Amino acid sequence: MTGNREGSTRPTPTEPPEVTRVEIPVDTRAPGGTTNAYLVGGVLVDPAARTDALDAAVGVGDAVSVGDAGGTGVEGRDAGTPHAVDAETPHAIDAIAVTHVHPDHVGAVAAYAELTDAPVVAHADYPDRLADATGIEPDETVRDGDRIGETAVRAVETPGHAADHLAFAVASGGGGTGDGEVDDDATERRDLICGDLAVAEGSVVVGAPDGDLGEYLASLRRVRDADFDRLWPGHGPPIGDPAAACQRLIDHRLARERSVLGAIEGGARDVDAVLETAYEKDLSGVEDLARATVVAHLEKLLAERRIDEVWRERLDREDDC
Ligand SMILES: [Zn+2]
Repeated sequence: MTGNREGSTRPTPTEPPEVTRVEIPVDTRAPGGTTNAYLVGGVLVDPAARTDALDAAVGVGDAVSVGDAGGTGVEGRDAGTPHAVDAETPHAIDAIAVTHVHPDHVGAVAAYAELTDAPVVAHADYPDRLADATGIEPDETVRDGDRIGETAVRAVETPGHAADHLAFAVASGGGGTGDGEVDDDATERRDLICGDLAVAEGSVVVGAPDGDLGEYLASLRRVRDADFDRLWPGHGPPIGDPAAACQRLIDHRLARERSVLGAIEGGARDVDAVLETAYEKDLSGVEDLARATVVAHLEKLLAERRIDEVWRERLDREDDC
């Protein structure tokens, strides 16, 4: 079976980067139980586990035949054909990067680094986190705005869900394709691989101690205002209206913050009481996440001096539990 080989076009170096999404089954509490790995502009992002589909997309292992790559799990261009490794292709990919080092995003960093020899890129402030999570010492580090290696993909610092969270921006089209097309900014498309900053439906966990709600909201506002055409989240389908999606997530957090403040004004004196009042729905199975979220809210309100300092002690007691 040859899949849709006829319809696929082999990218040439002058073609704009496209985004290939490969769904990876992982042990995650995210809806759907999968993490998205991406190939964009030669960068492999968030290889959560080694799978045949991702092997095919990257162009390594035995899975370079198109049939293996077809079907579910692969979106975007035909993932089986573009990067097949041969003697003239020293590296199937140009770099490996992660949006953050939570376990459901990093599982196969070491495997693909070994398979492709591609440099592994880490956030400049957190190289040790990547090393601890993957067993691989990063080859390069990046800060906000830096290019990933020699690629056209740029790092966008987006802390909040995790302190080391990065998104990856790439512009496609906009002329200069080598086909003699005129430059036309109107045709340029800007994509952002956004990790766990956003999801198409529901919300992402921003929980203490590593999650920071103030930073998370700032990151959402920044991406909302940056005029991206599409977001590619760490879990679930792409987001076609980034500004609306970011605003929805901001509104969701601010509504939750009002509930937390309301619970305190209503007499809640510990995290349990806030949890009970601020969440109406049944929390069985997710109570630890809800608790971490409430603590993150309380930490933000404390930092903004909007609740009494006595909450600092109460939160310190939480840490001892
Ligand atoms: Zn995460």
